Amino acid sequence: MTAKNCLACDRPIKGRTDKKFCDDSCRNNYNNRMNSYSSPLVRNINNILRRNRRILEDLLEPLEKKVLVIERHKLVQRGFHFDYMTEHYHPDKKEHYYYCYEYGYRSIDQEKVLVVKDTRKKHFVREKKQVVVRRIQ
Ligand SMILES: [Zn+2]
Repeated sequence: MTAKNCLACDRPIKGRTDKKFCDDSCRNNYNNRMNSYSSPLVRNINNILRRNRRILEDLLEPLEKKVLVIERHKLVQRGFHFDYMTEHYHPDKKEHYYYCYEYGYRSIDQEKVLVVKDTRKKHFVREKKQVVVRRIQ
């Protein structure tokens, strides 16, 4: 029988052979490591995107209709970064939507934006590509 080593600390695991970690703290360490990128740049940008998303979510979720007109500076006050987004969507030449994941906005005028929840049916082509990449490796 071969002793298995903990995925987090690499010490041999005592007890049941189906365990992957010594204990909960090793499991948490491992999961945190997997969820965090080593690059501070990537981490910081991810944080900005998540904050942007949360700000829009907090505004829209209490509303029955998931739309809201708000002044840009009020979003900035809440910590919104207009420079960061996950998607630029323009169904026609006039309308430009900027999304942070499923929440986004479009300009109404210089001061105001319309905050919206993305209701488009999405299919993620990228997920398929990743499978192909994995096969190549
Ligand atoms: Zn461990």
